[in-house]
Amino acid sequence: MPPVFDIVFLGTGSPIPSPDRCGCGHVVVAGESHVLVDCGYGSARRLMPTGIVPATIGTAVFTHMHTDHITDVPDFLNLRWTSGATKPLQVFGPTGTKKMMDGFLLALEDDIRFRLAHHPGKLHPDGIRVEVTEIPATPDAASFATAASGLSLESFEVDHFPVVPALGYRFRFDGRSAVLSGDTSMCDSLLAAAQGADLLVSDALNPAMFAQFTERVRAIRPLAAALFDDVPSYHIHTPEVARLARDAGVGRLVLSHLLPNLPNDPAMEEQFAAGMSDIFPGPIQIARDTQRISVEKRNQP
Ligand SMILES: [Zn+2]
Ligand SMILES: [Zn+2]
Repeated sequence: MPPVFDIVFLGTGSPIPSPDRCGCGHVVVAGESHVLVDCGYGSARRLMPTGIVPATIGTAVFTHMHTDHITDVPDFLNLRWTSGATKPLQVFGPTGTKKMMDGFLLALEDDIRFRLAHHPGKLHPDGIRVEVTEIPATPDAASFATAASGLSLESFEVDHFPVVPALGYRFRFDGRSAVLSGDTSMCDSLLAAAQGADLLVSDALNPAMFAQFTERVRAIRPLAAALFDDVPSYHIHTPEVARLARDAGVGRLVLSHLLPNLPNDPAMEEQFAAGMSDIFPGPIQIARDTQRISVEKRNQP
């Protein structure tokens, strides 16, 4: 049996609320290593049904500083600490990550003091600490860390303008690779990083469904609709995802960070991915919260 190399989806939604999909978050499981990738609203509470003990997560990486990728960080830090963490969380992300973590920890300052006073000797003071490294944004995937299991962590810059910098990540383990696009429009750096990947997890906006959704909202919430008008310019559209996956020769494609946000409805998910399999010949899946998908070696052409 090859060692475990899985992506666990905590949140598969976007900033637009859905009853079924939380903000963006994942755990990459590689052997004994657990790496959190983003922590949007609701992601921390999704850990419990996945069976992943928060204290076993030693590393967290962030793609960019949009709310739907970061706002569950305080809950995650508290769950990690109170489930037994004894070492600081190693945090990596683009410029802005240190300011974000400092701000969340400042907000938690009194809570931390109260808990240490209430549970003397039970909570390790280092378990709520973080050590942050901001990583440079480069178009080519570059390694910035290796986990204890041998999991290699690589980052590359993507195009989520005006969100600069924004990163995607590639993970290599046991001769297999998984790429997480982060939030991006179609860009060459993602195409290059995804070359030959066994699994690609991609941001995805269905343009027809998003346009219909925006028009429905316009009648009742004109400001929201006006904001939604700007969204398609900085997310990759479903036909583009299919072409990119085909051109990069990836083994399996998983769509997440869905726009518009969908309920767990098979008919709507099918509509969301309509036409993609005419372009990309491999398996296409729409991720759901708490789902675990294995990174399996792709079939060589
Ligand atoms: Zn974003
Ligand atoms: Zn997002």
